[in-house]
Amino acid sequence: MKNKIRLERSRFLLTQILPAVALTLLVGFGVLGLLLWSSHTTDHASRDRQSRLVELVVSKLREAAAHDQESVTVWDDAVEQVRLNDTDWIDINLGAWMGDYFGFDGAYVLGPRDQPIYAYTNGGRASPEAFEAIAPEVVPLVDALRSKMRAGDVSQVNEMVLSPGVADIAVIRNRPAIVTVKPIVSDTGNIEQIPGEEYVHVLVRFVDGSLVEELQTDYMFEDLYFSWVAANERGLSSQPLKSDGGATIGYFVWHPYQPGYVIISKVVPVLTAVIVLALILVVTFLALNRKRAKRLAASEERIRYLALHDSLTGLPNRTSFNDRVDEALAEAGNSGISLLYLDLDRFKQVNDTLGHSAGDALIYEFGRRLAALVGEDDIVARFGGDEFALMLRNYADCDEMEGICQAIIDEARRPFDIGGNKVFVGVSVGASVAQVDGMDRTELLRKADVALYYSKTTGRGRYSFFSQAMDQALKLRQHTETDLRKALSEEGQLLVYYQPILSSESHKTIGYEALLRWRHPENGWISPELFIPIAEDTGLISQIGTLVMREACIAAAAWSEMTVAVNVSAVELGDPDYAARVRSILEDTGLEARRLELEITESAATDENSIAGDNLRSLRNMGVRIAIDDFGTGFSSLGRLHSLNVDRIKIDKSFVQGLGPRSDDEAIIRAIVDLAHAKGLKTTAEGVETKAQEERLARIGCDDLQGFLYSVAIPLWEVNRSLVFGAKEQDLSSQTS
Ligand code: C2E
Ligand code: CA
Ligand code: CA
Repeated sequence: MKNKIRLERSRFLLTQILPAVALTLLVGFGVLGLLLWSSHTTDHASRDRQSRLVELVVSKLREAAAHDQESVTVWDDAVEQVRLNDTDWIDINLGAWMGDYFGFDGAYVLGPRDQPIYAYTNGGRASPEAFEAIAPEVVPLVDALRSKMRAGDVSQVNEMVLSPGVADIAVIRNRPAIVTVKPIVSDTGNIEQIPGEEYVHVLVRFVDGSLVEELQTDYMFEDLYFSWVAANERGLSSQPLKSDGGATIGYFVWHPYQPGYVIISKVVPVLTAVIVLALILVVTFLALNRKRAKRLAASEERIRYLALHDSLTGLPNRTSFNDRVDEALAEAGNSGISLLYLDLDRFKQVNDTLGHSAGDALIYEFGRRLAALVGEDDIVARFGGDEFALMLRNYADCDEMEGICQAIIDEARRPFDIGGNKVFVGVSVGASVAQVDGMDRTELLRKADVALYYSKTTGRGRYSFFSQAMDQALKLRQHTETDLRKALSEEGQLLVYYQPILSSESHKTIGYEALLRWRHPENGWISPELFIPIAEDTGLISQIGTLVMREACIAAAAWSEMTVAVNVSAVELGDPDYAARVRSILEDTGLEARRLELEITESAATDENSIAGDNLRSLRNMGVRIAIDDFGTGFSSLGRLHSLNVDRIKIDKSFVQGLGPRSDDEAIIRAIVDLAHAKGLKTTAEGVETKAQEERLARIGCDDLQGFLYSVAIPLWEVNRSLVFGAKEQDLSSQTS
């Protein structure tokens, strides 16, 4: 179980959570990657631009320096004053002016042979020898200028640039600087000058000072500084500062402005949060979904369970029992399978007297007992009501089968403790055995049912194995039932015959017993002994009884004085309306109640506190007589005669026919008659067939006699004819006397 749950969980993780998380991450990282890529591209472009800007600013500065220089070097006054070596003038115009006004860091004037004649440095006039410090870097530029002048190269000169010049980037006094060199020339052209031998003006502007500041403030370069080496820290940009010869002087280093990075640094946390949220949502959704799916599966499972199980006992129901029997029967080597059909005895009484919940409790408990009795392979099912079915396996022989059947019966007999009451029931069992009784489930169940029926009709609380004879008996019953229904709806099949009852004293007919006859259209006469029990089982008896009662009453009403006896089944007496029905028939037919005698069984007469008892009391109050039929059979005991509230005892024909020279029957009959007389009851002996029997019965003192000796039961028309005939005979005899 645990393993199954673990397996199921890891499958869920593998097939659902993992792909969903992977997909979410993929999308998330895809978006992130795209963003990073675009920001990287943007930043790259931006850094590039800034580098070019630095380059541009430096080259503009160079141009500006040359331009600024021209304002003082292309000037007749300047040519004249340097020739005169008027150092004060030079200082004001070519030195301090350059420093103070244009912000140069150094200004020098060299003579025609490169001899320094003036120097301005560190914000003030200096000794011309100060030039020596920068000579190594500057002299090559001056030489280049002079050769340009000598060559008359004016390619640089245009509307904006007034004189040729040479400029470069160099390290001056350990600082990077723009150095620009221009000849001091006449602006008018009026002063004669030898090309290449002009006075030369040198300007120096450091680029690590004010330029850095300018780049920071005007161009908003962040943390820009000059460095001799390229920045190796990540995230810093460096732009090399190169001399015209291609030598790298140093680098401008700054924190580049990276718009992509700015965006990314703002977007990434949000995006991360979104991804995490999406992950949480996805996982939660899947988990919820799984939960719902699980719940659904559980409820499906429950529905399936309910469909296959009995809700009261939790045992398999008919459907699942059938399925499992089919499976078992289909298996190879399936011998030893038997089916048991069970039906509780007296369950209806429990339900009626103690209520349905008590009935339920009993069913539940019985189901539990059954389940405890059988093996693992066996199945106990409830089919509904008080019906159970079992499939037993591996009960090899008859003895074992009988053993389990008896155990089931014993379990059912053990009292049930229901809500403080001890309840006694029983169970009837029918069994069929696979292979012996067939291999088809329907057939086997039907046969078990037939056997159950047999158990029930032969006394209940017992088990029976199916036999062919049972089947035939049942089939006969079924046919009989159908035919009986038909007979009831058709004229001429069910006929009431009458058997006379004579006074043993006068030998005169004092009344008749109505006996039902069935003339079956195909099978001929069918004995009431055969069809009455079936009518009782099927409930047809009430219709039949009413039919006989009505005809008998009609017949008797036409007779003078004579009584009519009608047989009443115990089933009829159990109907609360029975007495009322008899009353209405008496009223309809006009027969006096005292001329009607009902023949009932002994057990119906003893059951005082029941519906039958109520019926009998009402009937007796009406004046109807009650006789006990077949006295001496069944549970009869002579002792019980005292308590019976009846008018007549009919001694069973088995005693009468047992009257022989040496038998106990005479003594029994005598005892019955004496007791009956002592209680004031009349007696009738049935089945009188011989004169000898007649004589013995007369001697014993039996009141009335009935039997083939006098007449079999005859149709009404014959009764009426004999009555007329008898009356004539009587008339005749009275006339002759
Ligand atoms: P029962 O009430 O004991 O009826 C007497 C039976 O004994 C009748 O059989 C009758 O024909 C037979 N019998 C009469 N005299 C003699 C004789 O001398 N010797 C022998 N061997 N038999 C004699 P039947 O008519 O076949 O009826 C059988 C049983 O069917 C009756 O027994 C009665 O219990 C039942 N029955 C008949 N008609 C009705 C009816 O209308 N309603 C009910 N509830 N039961 C009926
Ligand atoms: Ca009878
Ligand atoms: Ca009888």
